[in-house]
Parts: sequence; C-alpha cells; structure tokens
Amino acid sequence: MNVLIIEDERKVARALADGLEREHFAVTVAANGEDGFFLINARPFDIILLDLNLPGRDGIEVLSTMRQKGIRTPVLILTARDAVESKVTGLESGADDYLVKPFAFPELVARMRVLLRRGRSDAETHRSLGDLELDIMTRKVSRAHRPIQLTTKEFDLLEFFLRNKNRIVSREMLVQDVWSDIGRATPLDNVIDVHIAHLRRKIDEGFPVRLLHTVRGVGFLLSESQP
Ligand code: CA
Repeated sequence: MNVLIIEDERKVARALADGLEREHFAVTVAANGEDGFFLINARPFDIILLDLNLPGRDGIEVLSTMRQKGIRTPVLILTARDAVESKVTGLESGADDYLVKPFAFPELVARMRVLLRRGRSDAETHRSLGDLELDIMTRKVSRAHRPIQLTTKEFDLLEFFLRNKNRIVSREMLVQDVWSDIGRATPLDNVIDVHIAHLRRKIDEGFPVRLLHTVRGVGFLLSESQP
C-alpha cells in the first residue's frame, strides 16, 4: 500500500514515515502543498495523510483541487487541536476522515485500514489458491489455516504470484513488478532465485500439493497442478 504524507513538520513526518514503514506501507513524504500536489498528479497513491496547516498552498487547497480534478484517493486529514473549523472545511472539501494532533499511532493505522478497505470487496483484499490464503490489508498469510511468516519481499512476491495464479510468470515480470525499485540494469537472477527458494520452503514444505513451480527456461507458475 502506497501512502503519501504531506506534512511540513519534519520530525512529525519522519516519525509517521518510520512507523508506517514498520507497518509495511510504502511511504512518500512531501514537505509542502506544492510538492504534495505534484506527487498526487504524478502517480497513484492508495491513501494520503494531509496536514492542513502547510506553508504556501495549504492542505484545504490541495484537497479541493485534487477532488475537482476527480482524484478519489482516500484522504485522512491531520489537524491541530484548536482547528475545529478547518476540520469541518476539510471534510466539506472531500476528506474522508480526520485525526486531531497529537494522536495515538495505532489509532492512525486503524483509521487508515478502514479507509483502505472501504469500497473494496473481499475479492480485492483477499487472494487465495487452494488452501493458501493472503490478506492484503492485514498482510497475513496462511496455508491450511496455519499462519506463515513472510518477509516484506516474500509477501510482495507471493501477492504477485497469486494475482497471476495459473499463469506463467517470467523473470522479467518479477524484475519489473516486484523489484521495481532496482531497475532493469541490475542482474537479479540470483536474488530472485533466493527469494523463490525461501518462499517455496515456507508455503510448500510439508504439504502434499506443491504450489510454486519452476518452468525451466520460462519462469515460474503458482498453481495446484504441475506445469
Ligand atoms: Ca503543519
């Protein structure tokens, strides 16, 4: 899940970013409304945390302009305790929820998950193949109801395989979609092999039906049947 934090107080932004990264969000920080607005237009985010009191283009302006442009990304506004009026203006301008500073971090995460889940069906937040199940929101994975602990990369890898279940996934697809931050120039074959081996051990070992197959010379296949 990609989150954009628009917050000019560096310490607050840093603390939020660190906490959310620990919760496995991919975090981008903008220190003012201009940068935030630029980023919102440049690429899709799953949710935006918006401080209202920003230098230059303020939070309300960012919010109402993006809504006018038809950008529906959920926005959670962060307001100062005394700014009741701006909270109301924020909600009227298209914010989905608000939190008054200072707030407890777990409450922020809980509110974010509600917004992220809203309007999404189970089919969008839940992926499965046979007895293997993955929840995108809680990042929980299990097989035959037995919980499986995955690293962040293994989770991303499995999520990608589940999205493409019963289809052959090439190494190029993995480089592009799962390792997008590294870029094509770096040789990734060994890295991919190591992650596949770890993932395979975690999801397949001890189960009668193997799910993650290597298709020699072509790529990989997540399927209940042999390639
Ligand atoms: Ca501020």
